[in-house]
Amino acid sequence: MTEPSDQFQRRRAKPLIREWRGEAAGSCHRYFLTSGERPGPWPERPEVRVEVAVVGAGLSGLTAAYHLRDREVAVLEAGPHPGGVCLTEDYEGIPYPAGSAYSYYPWNEAWAAWYRDLGLNVEGAVVEPPASALHYRGQWFADCYSAAGVRGLPFPPAVREGLARLAEDLAAWEEEWDPLGEEGFSRPELDRLTLADYLERERGLPPVATAFFAPYCASCLGALPHQVSAWAGLSFLMSEFSASARIIAFPEGNARLVAALVAALPRPPLLGQVVVELHPGRDRVRLLARGASGEALCVEAQAVILAGGKFAMQHLLPPESGWQGEDFRHFRYSSYVVAALLGPLEIQAPGYENWVMEEEAFSDFILSPRVAAAGTLRAMVLYAPQPFPTGRRQLLEQPAEAQARRLLAAVARRFPEAAAAVEEVRLYRFGHAQVVPYPGFLTLLRQEGRPRPVKGRLILAHSDLAGLPCVEAAILEGQRAARRAREVLSLGEGK
Ligand SMILES: Cc1cc2nc3c(=O)[nH]c(=O)nc-3n(C[C@H](O)[C@H](O)[C@H](O)COP(=O)(O)OP(=O)(O)OC[C@H]3O[C@@H](n4cnc5c(N)ncnc54)[C@H](O)[C@@H]3O)c2cc1C
Repeated sequence: MTEPSDQFQRRRAKPLIREWRGEAAGSCHRYFLTSGERPGPWPERPEVRVEVAVVGAGLSGLTAAYHLRDREVAVLEAGPHPGGVCLTEDYEGIPYPAGSAYSYYPWNEAWAAWYRDLGLNVEGAVVEPPASALHYRGQWFADCYSAAGVRGLPFPPAVREGLARLAEDLAAWEEEWDPLGEEGFSRPELDRLTLADYLERERGLPPVATAFFAPYCASCLGALPHQVSAWAGLSFLMSEFSASARIIAFPEGNARLVAALVAALPRPPLLGQVVVELHPGRDRVRLLARGASGEALCVEAQAVILAGGKFAMQHLLPPESGWQGEDFRHFRYSSYVVAALLGPLEIQAPGYENWVMEEEAFSDFILSPRVAAAGTLRAMVLYAPQPFPTGRRQLLEQPAEAQARRLLAAVARRFPEAAAAVEEVRLYRFGHAQVVPYPGFLTLLRQEGRPRPVKGRLILAHSDLAGLPCVEAAILEGQRAARRAREVLSLGEGK
């Protein structure tokens, strides 16, 4: 509902630029930055006693809780809503993704069954082709991530041929490739190269081919082709070029998965609870959480699943847990701004996901609804990955107004009619948005299994443990953590 004060502001200043939304960074910073508050005294007794406590209600934590729903589980979430980076809002009743948007379906029958069991109609969410399109030098090129589509790109014939051969090779490798498997690692040598090196040195493609993948890499992998591992880049592109995988997207994006998981839990997540300290004991772990006004909550559990990113979890782990800061030194994170431009936007873009080449301010956008009659209210959701590693500081220091103006100017240069119709801008920031798979990172995670996912009664989850920032990684890590929690619980039961 639009409030009267909103209408008043709209008349005064168009567009209305809202304050930052998104990650609840402040609540964690309050305790975890070096100058942060001391967590304060522990309550004498635990107020909550459960079999498993889950720290973090992102997709990984919620998936873990979902697979343990026959046990006593408490999920504690620092932010005001569950979902982590899977966020949604609506504009005058039009839902749009304000974070994570789409996924691939089905990889196999097990994935299809998982979605079905959650009551999600994924068949109905398969996006109409073309799933993607490229905006380059004032023109749209539909279906840019397919062997046929790359042949239509405005590059020299040899480049088009080279890209088409790459697309065919990726389709052939799909059979042997398991991006999220715990064992095995086909073609590990590709993790030593950057994607740019692979394209240019190994495949002899010119820099324009690397530039073609730049918006994709920045948006999906948190860094540019000359910064990300070729193995990681090719794994992601394999899904895009796949002949069998299809893209599924709900109007609310992946927040629909979050809603389905939360609805299936016997107890809702405890929101606004920042877990600030952990004390692992022989039979139990105690954890201390702080609510929005600093009030303490003590939870005792037989096993604890740590489903927040390692950037936050390293502050929680006491030395006796067996994990050291050193274990987490290798995890690097990119930052993100998602901007919803709202109004009766006049814009046509052929893809579900629309990639914009040679644009520094943003990499891609999704329209909600995708097709609309003139004058219809819509959301143009811009994805604006922030340069690694400086982006995070800029996000904390930059006013929302400055970021919104920069994005609006960029949209106005390319799509002036859409920019002119924007009535409201909502900005969402994510400081530690995605783990960056730089060369060697995936090898490190797989070779040594570092950091080991279970120590005593503490279990690590979160998509960053897979080294690839995607919803499938979060779901698989959540499922693995649930299995490990059962093993921990069964030790106690056998006594
Ligand atoms: C803008 C954006 C767009 C994306 N789009 C896509 C996409 O379209 N498709 C795709 O496959 N992937 C996408 N991704 C990546 C994918 O969505 C994520 O990898 C995945 O959702 C992460 O889930 P998670 O549970 O691992 O982590 P998170 O979502 O990071 O959840 C972790 C949770 O832990 C909480 N937490 C942290 N510390 C504490 C604490 N001390 N106490 C309590 N709670 C705590 C956090 O508040 C957070 O809610 C996108 C990511 C971003 C940022």
